[in-house]
Amino acid sequence: MRKTFIAGNWKMYKTPAEARALAEELKSALKGCKHKVLIAPSFTALDAVSSVVKGSNILLGAQNMSNVEEGAHTGETSVLMLKAIGVDVVILGHSERRHVYGETNEVINQKVKLALSHGLEVILCIGETLEEREAGRAEEVVKKQTEAGLKGVSEDQLKDVTIAYEPVWAIGTGKTATPEDADQIHQVTRDTVKNIYSADAAEAMVIQYGGSVKPENAAQLMSMDNIDGALVGGASLKVDLFLPIAEYDK
Ligand code: PEP
Repeated sequence: MRKTFIAGNWKMYKTPAEARALAEELKSALKGCKHKVLIAPSFTALDAVSSVVKGSNILLGAQNMSNVEEGAHTGETSVLMLKAIGVDVVILGHSERRHVYGETNEVINQKVKLALSHGLEVILCIGETLEEREAGRAEEVVKKQTEAGLKGVSEDQLKDVTIAYEPVWAIGTGKTATPEDADQIHQVTRDTVKNIYSADAAEAMVIQYGGSVKPENAAQLMSMDNIDGALVGGASLKVDLFLPIAEYDK
């Protein structure tokens, strides 16, 4: 039985003081939450939020990291820095990184392997653009992104990987994939994991859905067989929106 995993991606919102206040609220509100829960503030707020969630049931996430361990890389943040600050999980290959900042499957794969080799958990984001969906290429795209993102990752390391299916056209747009459409892509993703690794690995893989998840649609989405949680952007910035999603009872 896969554990439901709810993650909040705070994107480029909240100063350290604002992030600390939100984390404090969430910490008390989510005390009895039975799911795996993560919040991912921006880099500058990680330290403040780390001291709030330390020892609680909330994991600390980062939204990105460099593809190299350390060196002359102005403006980048390394895996070692994330580890030192108490980060548990790093979100990699988010569509805003792929499509706004031009990250390729190859670079994302380097990041995935680096994070895993340092003991961080990874949320690997995949998802097709509207153009790709309309051209009937959604399945092909997520299959390729899954294969490329996991290249060189061992089956043993896979226990530290979550996949987030986030159709690009649904992120921050208010549009959501239907539960059936999302479930179908999750099934394709699970089959891809089965082809690369094994039936057991596919069965164990936690696959989140992301893209305008709100309290109104979360239960329907997560009730689908292949949807094991949610990666939540906008709605994770407000306790009264994030809470009912995180407390969903599968
Ligand atoms: C995201 O940032 O990963 C996301 C899915 O955003 P939103 O929920 O706002 O669409």
